[in-house]
Amino acid sequence: MSSLSGKVQTVLGPIEPSKLGRTLTHEHLAMTFDCCYYPPALCYEATSREPIMMKNLFWIQKNPYSHKENLRLNQEMEAVREELLYFKAKGGGAVVENTTVGISRDMKALRWFAEETGIHIIAGAGFYVEATHSPETRAMSVEQLTDVLVNEILHGADGTSIKCGVIGEIGCSWPLAESERKVLQATAHAQAQLGCPVIIHPGRNASAPFQIIRVLQEAGVDISKTVMSHIDRTLLDKTELLEFAQLGCYLEYDLFGTELLHYQFNPDIDMPDDNKRIRRVHLLVDEGYEDRILMAHDIHTKHRLMKYGGHGYSHILTNIVPKMLLRGITENAIDKILIENPKQWLTFK
Ligand SMILES: [Zn+2]
Repeated sequence: MSSLSGKVQTVLGPIEPSKLGRTLTHEHLAMTFDCCYYPPALCYEATSREPIMMKNLFWIQKNPYSHKENLRLNQEMEAVREELLYFKAKGGGAVVENTTVGISRDMKALRWFAEETGIHIIAGAGFYVEATHSPETRAMSVEQLTDVLVNEILHGADGTSIKCGVIGEIGCSWPLAESERKVLQATAHAQAQLGCPVIIHPGRNASAPFQIIRVLQEAGVDISKTVMSHIDRTLLDKTELLEFAQLGCYLEYDLFGTELLHYQFNPDIDMPDDNKRIRRVHLLVDEGYEDRILMAHDIHTKHRLMKYGGHGYSHILTNIVPKMLLRGITENAIDKILIENPKQWLTFK
């Protein structure tokens, strides 16, 4: 047990969990995604280098990872600040900003957003997928990796005294890379030591979440403090989803706002749209899992900001919640998903 027990740790310090309010549990406010640039078809090479404009916006929406400028969310500090204020005006209270090492985490930017907007921001410790691990990270033992994670939570990250309040998003590929397995084991060790929350980015295969939970549990994680992200694009089969739900981790539908014809990272996956996400959330509520569901947008590129005609950080509050109510999900269940579950998850044991 640490001195953080019973508290949530934001970038401005520990707070009482009841202060959080409506919380988005998987977002990015400043990051780069160059690691996942996806070269366009030859005939679109010129388009991929154009500035973002109305004329090419639909193409960028459908091919977000083939446009280099689109992958630089960290160039939009002012737009993100404004959109956080809008989120607050619509009833938002907190954001988990789970940018980790490898995709340009910026602790000072997160502190600035928190100070400027009054939104509670919780920063993420740890490492993104193996493709972004440095040679030093790959060479570390599980014990050394555990020390890095514990240090980012207790003392501060990236040479600052600004502290992380959650481990993750921890990046996993499919198949799982060896250095990712070590990071997962370190995550479990640090979690057990600190009683902190954990959030995982699984590989794009239905077996990935099951394998990850096995690795974490064998290393001693508290599964009730663990979030599996991106369920929407990973567990599409209903039977598999309900089987996974039994394991007891949080199930995060965090790609709200993403409606893609072609999913560049895995063409075998038909990315669900928001209506399908709502139906899945409804199913999980009906099956008794309302205290395990979390929701977010996972904004990580420019085109999803309102500045570029995107849905922004308020889409769930302004558009998705009314549709959930229309489909018969109760206000009580929605409050659990947006307020109570994030609060329970983020509170240190
Ligand atoms: Zn993410």
